[in-house]
Amino acid sequence: MKKILFFLISIAFFLSFNLNSQEKKNLNVILMIGDGMGMSQITSGMYSLNNRTSLEKMPHIGISKTHSYSSLVTDSAAAGTAIACGEKTINGTLGINPQNKQLESILEISKDYGYKTGIIATSSIVHATPAAFYANVISRNQYEDIALQLSQNEVDFFVGGGRDYFTKRDDKRNLIKEMSDYDFVYSLKKFNESTSNKIGFFTSLGDPYRIIDGRKPKLSDAIEAMLDKISSYENPFFLVVESSQIDWAGHANDFNWINAEFREFDEAIQSAINFSNKNKNTLIIVTADHETGGLAITGGKVRRFTMRTKWGTIGHTAEMVPVFSTGPKSETFSGIYDNTDIFKKILNAIEN
Ligand code: MG
Ligand code: ZN
Repeated sequence: MKKILFFLISIAFFLSFNLNSQEKKNLNVILMIGDGMGMSQITSGMYSLNNRTSLEKMPHIGISKTHSYSSLVTDSAAAGTAIACGEKTINGTLGINPQNKQLESILEISKDYGYKTGIIATSSIVHATPAAFYANVISRNQYEDIALQLSQNEVDFFVGGGRDYFTKRDDKRNLIKEMSDYDFVYSLKKFNESTSNKIGFFTSLGDPYRIIDGRKPKLSDAIEAMLDKISSYENPFFLVVESSQIDWAGHANDFNWINAEFREFDEAIQSAINFSNKNKNTLIIVTADHETGGLAITGGKVRRFTMRTKWGTIGHTAEMVPVFSTGPKSETFSGIYDNTDIFKKILNAIEN
């Protein structure tokens, strides 16, 4: 009798566990970050697209407070850490809180839930924003340490620049050789053709080009190739996509550059929306880590959407930034909240 009871309890436990993991299995998350993309950048980008943006297709909108632990004006490392790990920290720090505790990122947590993981950036892959999802370093400038941590972290698929940080190192290690379970590719075609479960696609040796200088691949092409690959498994996936250079264009106070980067990002957002239309269990979040440049549109013509602009700074500003979302759980991203809540809301969406 005892044996039968034990058997029944085991079956019930097994079934409920399976049911749970089945539910969890389904929610894919695509987190898209426009570095330095405040409301003015979105507005000018939208007008430069003749008054339209794919962001208009995202039904839920929130606003995020961007200040860091140490400063009203955050940098990308502290803001990336807040979004990725759920704690505000000191500017310049990645994945470590002010009490010196190493934090686990939402990407790493999703792996514990059986997620496939991917990162795409239009900067080097060891730059602050992408690094916030896999690295723990006191200074964002420890690029070679960050590369070493990526080599040990097992992000399944990544696309970005910065190959030199893996091969031309002070410690003389060749991380590409050490990452023997990865297939390293150097074109989108090879990325598509690869059948490996782990792929690193280096788009450049250092920082990738500006979009106005012909950067390849286009972000929309990269995200479409990535989604093909990462959604081909039984597992759900967590994908981070960063349009990195909206920020760089802001630092340069370069209006044409910033709009061109936004337009490329906008197209990539449309690619993500197209995917979610076919794969309903996909949560898409589009946000920024902070605003860059203090951009103001001070005049212009409504017929052709030409704009007159002023810049407030060559640095970042303390402006709150919008959070757009669509898909299951996207309604939880409405309201005004701290950037650290983005981590908590994604975690909640993954866990439930
Ligand atoms: Mg960045
Ligand atoms: Zn910046």
